[in-house]
Amino acid sequence: MTQASEKRVAVVTGASRGIGRAIALRLARDGRHVVLVSRSAGPLSDLAQQIEAQHGPGSASFKAVDVGDPKEFGEAIEQVIAERGRLDILINNAGITKDGLVLRMSDEDWNAVLSTNLTSAFVGIRAAARAMMKGRFGRIVNISSTSGVVGNAGQANYAAAKAGLAGLSKTIARELGSKGITCNVIAPGFIETDMTANLPPQVKEGVLNLMAVKRLGTGDDIAAAVSYVTSDDAGFLTGQVICVDGGMTMC
Ligand code: NDP
Repeated sequence: MTQASEKRVAVVTGASRGIGRAIALRLARDGRHVVLVSRSAGPLSDLAQQIEAQHGPGSASFKAVDVGDPKEFGEAIEQVIAERGRLDILINNAGITKDGLVLRMSDEDWNAVLSTNLTSAFVGIRAAARAMMKGRFGRIVNISSTSGVVGNAGQANYAAAKAGLAGLSKTIARELGSKGITCNVIAPGFIETDMTANLPPQVKEGVLNLMAVKRLGTGDDIAAAVSYVTSDDAGFLTGQVICVDGGMTMC
């Protein structure tokens, strides 16, 4: 039987870049052992080495996994629990877009976005829940989007998946709350990452005009919210959809 590590263990999906990378660095700073997950081993290995080289309170390891493959992702979570003896924090952050107006949206693009952005969260939570119940502690954060809260033309698949995370999270919050497990959604607004890099300048300008704080967000803005929601102090916060969007939606 594996000796349980003393540090809280966090799995962060989509950790190879962007928001997930910022979350992983922040959770390591918070003293977590962070298991980095995405499909590409190279950037994960580099990030794990960077975290380890900081000799900070946290540490890191990685698993190259396609979260859109339920068997592969479920088994990866089980491996983490077997290897580290615990799993305390699960951040379902991996996500893709395949935008298009609904009349032209293919079944493939619908299904790809639903499986990567929504089904993966269900699979991860199901695989992690037993270990969290055993430890009588769990912090689950599902990274949604303001598109899932207010809708966005051209993103029927993405908005549906992201809105689905809210229903999933509220249900998990109710099912597992008595076991010390919280489940919340963080819905970022417009964050500067690869996902938004190719949007035309006029679209970025339009978004900027909608924001109270008049700047685009960074991965660190989202990571700061995740840090609090996953802290021991946040045990009374559950079933919430928290929009971290510079005051764009105020919902
Ligand atoms: P990026 O495109 O920069 O990064 C996406 C991450 O997800 C990468 O690490 C990628 O790694 C990983 N990923 C994608 N598909 C899979 C898969 N099938 N299996 C495992 N990992 C996968 O996106 P962001 O950092 O911008 O976005 C992160 C999350 O935040 C997403 O859920 C996104 O929807 C959400 N979000 C982003 C906003 C923004 O403005 N940027 C706004 C609102 C929400 P790899 O390719 O190596 O597998």
